[in-house]
Amino acid sequence: MSYEGEFASYRPLQRIADSNQVQGLLKRAKRLPVVGSTGRLPEPSHLEPLTVDLPEFVVAIDGSSAEIDVSTGYPGSRIGYVTVASVLLNLRLVDILDEDRPVDPVRFRATEEADTIPAALPGSNVVTRDYPSARDSFRAELYDLLQDAEVDEDDDSTLLETFEILLRHKPTERLQRCPYEYDGCQETMLVGPGLSDCSCSKRRVIFSTDALRIHEGFREDSSNLEMLSEVMQVWERIMLVHLLLCFERKGLLSKANKVAFFVDGPLAVFGHPAWLSAAIKVELQRLNAIVRRETGADLIIVGIEKSGSFVQHFEDLAGVKGGDDALLFGERTCFLPTDDYIKSRIIYSNSDKRYGEATYFGRKFFYRTDNLSRVVGSIPFLDEEQDSLDSSDLSRYRQLPAVCALLDKLVSSRFANSVSPIIAAHAHAAIPFTLGAKVLHRLAVALMRDEK
Ligand SMILES: [Zn+2]
Repeated sequence: MSYEGEFASYRPLQRIADSNQVQGLLKRAKRLPVVGSTGRLPEPSHLEPLTVDLPEFVVAIDGSSAEIDVSTGYPGSRIGYVTVASVLLNLRLVDILDEDRPVDPVRFRATEEADTIPAALPGSNVVTRDYPSARDSFRAELYDLLQDAEVDEDDDSTLLETFEILLRHKPTERLQRCPYEYDGCQETMLVGPGLSDCSCSKRRVIFSTDALRIHEGFREDSSNLEMLSEVMQVWERIMLVHLLLCFERKGLLSKANKVAFFVDGPLAVFGHPAWLSAAIKVELQRLNAIVRRETGADLIIVGIEKSGSFVQHFEDLAGVKGGDDALLFGERTCFLPTDDYIKSRIIYSNSDKRYGEATYFGRKFFYRTDNLSRVVGSIPFLDEEQDSLDSSDLSRYRQLPAVCALLDKLVSSRFANSVSPIIAAHAHAAIPFTLGAKVLHRLAVALMRDEK
């Protein structure tokens, strides 16, 4: 076996890859038969044409993160940037523009109204105010960030308040270590809302956001990109819940079926803040119960994956059935992989614990759009019955036909296997320093106007 990828031509690595030890390890490694050759195949279901109206608006939430070297006089000083953009897409306008294809990108952009919130966070060797270390500066700035991020001009609630609502759902049986453990503090604690202090004699400040434990991955002397991506995924997901809570306060949940929410990446929270996933699930289920009562439909929330094992697996399936994968996955077919399917075909495991139990608040689906694009997405567990990977039955997820019809509409050849608003959000997120985030306000105005 040769060493694949970009290092193929790098000879020292090739030598390692060819070595007996590496070859021996590969021989001992479990081998999955080529997809479809012996193992099971997915059994996708065909979706009937949608009989209800599609949502009129799409809100896409998408972040990016980066790190830059700065000069503070201390070596290796870095600052992290995280931006989370929300894009509002008016689908009626998309329809009108679609009538005279090819779409003019400038006019297409006019259908999106992007708002970007940029934030800078201390990285290694950057100490702000009187904090004792870069790590503590980071903790303080993260707290301020959620407190200062004003999302809506006529709703002055902050992302921090939304976070603290989620914090109430954090399990209390496990205490966490004091954030000053690096400085010798031995206390363990349950982190509460707002500011508090450690019960040791130094009584140093504890921020509610310390409950995210992101600071535990902070590196004083090297890059913190991994930590920044935890900040980004948390921020994106808190933003989703925040927008829904704003809807609730404005009495707009009865119109929630007119809006679809797209989030970048799976509906999950990974790493140190993974507990947030279960908290988000609780809050989404509470909100969805109201939406279901008022509209008869479920919330439409979709996570879209652009890479990873599931995307790879879906692509691998193209080689099945003599290369004519439309035989297996025809247009407008959808498959919900079960726990068993995932563990035997995609991410090997013989654990009894459900795949993604601690990290996911939704489940994955494979969808082949009407133009045969492949989409790997996830939809949330909006009630107890949906919260299972036991079956591939689509009917439990009443929003799925609308989700797929939306994907037909939004996934175009221009953005193969991706979702255009998500792409647009990326483009805007890449421009920092554009302050303001008024998506919700505009959406509320549009929904109200719609009433007449
Ligand atoms: Zn302490």
